[in-house]
Amino acid sequence: MSENGKPRVAFFDFACCEGCQLTVVDSLQTHLDLLDAVDIVEFREAISDQSDDYLVAFIEGSCTRESDEARLKKIRERAAVVVALGACAHTAGLNALKNLHPLEDVREWVYGDKADWYDTYAARPISAVIEVDAVIPGCPIDREEFVSVVKALLMGKTPPVPDYPVCVECKLKENVCLLLEGKPCMGPVARAGCDAICPTYGDGCEGCRGLIPHPNDNAMKDVLEEAGLTVDQVMSRMTMFNTYPLQEKEAVAGEEVK
Ligand code: SF4
Ligand code: SF4
Ligand code: SF4
Repeated sequence: MSENGKPRVAFFDFACCEGCQLTVVDSLQTHLDLLDAVDIVEFREAISDQSDDYLVAFIEGSCTRESDEARLKKIRERAAVVVALGACAHTAGLNALKNLHPLEDVREWVYGDKADWYDTYAARPISAVIEVDAVIPGCPIDREEFVSVVKALLMGKTPPVPDYPVCVECKLKENVCLLLEGKPCMGPVARAGCDAICPTYGDGCEGCRGLIPHPNDNAMKDVLEEAGLTVDQVMSRMTMFNTYPLQEKEAVAGEEVK
């Protein structure tokens, strides 16, 4: 706590586009009450101050190199509450697409003949390195969800994250299912909480909020193929935001078979 009794809050970024932090800035502009309820002590997108003393740490971005681990662990030691902010931190998001290719190839594509200068390894969510107390899913996060998560945390509550699929919200909005029109949509296996915004505006869900617990991904692949996607297109939709969880699921299944 600060001397003024307000909880000290810090924001940190790892491998990401920083779009979720920008959404936070945007959100705080219209929720001045929230801005007044906390003391922001570190937030590279918005202020130049830095601090090692904070109660809540919001972490945006994936862990993509060994040297990130020590920094994540330091943040964990200092914060009473750690929140994964956005898909990159929550599921490793788009960053984990690189895990589908040999690391040496990826390094060469990105860094060319300077590949040896840069330390990098398979992208992972921050929960693969440290314990995480809450997540705000999405790419980018939803402004209002950010506000409700912060309010829940300030009241000492665990913020609820839906564990049902996007289809539930889509049906409640009485949308015509895109799959019936032959358009691909990951709604049956994607985690809800966005009010089915993409299908509502005619775009298939790409699963940016992660997958529901125990998704039937084989049935999802069949449905996407029936919607006219080739095997490559099916895999690219399945892995867009969920390479890491799907690879983890395969690894666990492989262990169970052994
Ligand atoms: S989740 Fe999306 S918007 Fe947020 S930092 Fe990652 S890539 Fe950017
Ligand atoms: S459009 Fe997508 S989210 Fe909506 S009901 Fe169909 S599959 Fe589910
Ligand atoms: S509909 Fe799917 S892709 Fe769109 S915001 Fe929701 S979870 Fe993300």
